[in-house]
Amino acid sequence: MIARLQAVDDELMDLELEKGDLPKQIDAINSEISRLETRKTELDDQLGEVEKKKRVNEGSIELHKVKLDKYQNQLYSVTTNREYDAINQEIETCRAQIESVDNAQVSLLEEEEEIQGQIEPIDVRIDALQADLAEREEELKSKHADTETEELELQHDREKLIVRIKKPVVAHYERIRASRNGTGAARMYGGACGACFAVIPPQRQAEVRKLDDIILCESCGVIVLPEEEHMPAIAPDEI
Ligand SMILES: [Zn+2]
Repeated sequence: MIARLQAVDDELMDLELEKGDLPKQIDAINSEISRLETRKTELDDQLGEVEKKKRVNEGSIELHKVKLDKYQNQLYSVTTNREYDAINQEIETCRAQIESVDNAQVSLLEEEEEIQGQIEPIDVRIDALQADLAEREEELKSKHADTETEELELQHDREKLIVRIKKPVVAHYERIRASRNGTGAARMYGGACGACFAVIPPQRQAEVRKLDDIILCESCGVIVLPEEEHMPAIAPDEI
């Protein structure tokens, strides 16, 4: 019984493990996507700032062009050399300002391109991750559907076994199982406990093989079961 219970529990654990990896993978992909999206938002904000500066510069260029036109028209109507020089001076200043803003626009354009160049691969990566995510979510869904029946059957087997084993034995098994990663009973292996590999004295080994009592490993507490070859086809109910 205990041997069969352990076998059923091992199978249940395998089913859990099989699913266990996928939710973790899905979490990892999700956090990678949100990390990339945060980075993309930062870059979008930077791009927005650049756009804003570009618009301000465009306005400034327009304004200076209007001024330039005005000064150039005034040149035709000046009467003195002093006036002429003064307006020419204004025209020069205006041109210099337009040139400097133009240069600033060129750097902003370069900056814009650079940021867009960074956003592009992020978009590609996010798309790929989202496709991957959808695939894995689908896989998990179908795995849940696949294992559901098997899991229910195993749970049912487990319940049937448990009612046939003495309560204190089940309680001990569960307690050890909880503290030993799912192992509450283990077969002897080369004269040692199959769970912790502590050597079992020959006298105890013989007792284990006699199958007329529950023998615990003195070192780790698991219920010690005989080696496969010493296990009779029909074992006493308890063991
Ligand atoms: Zn042990």
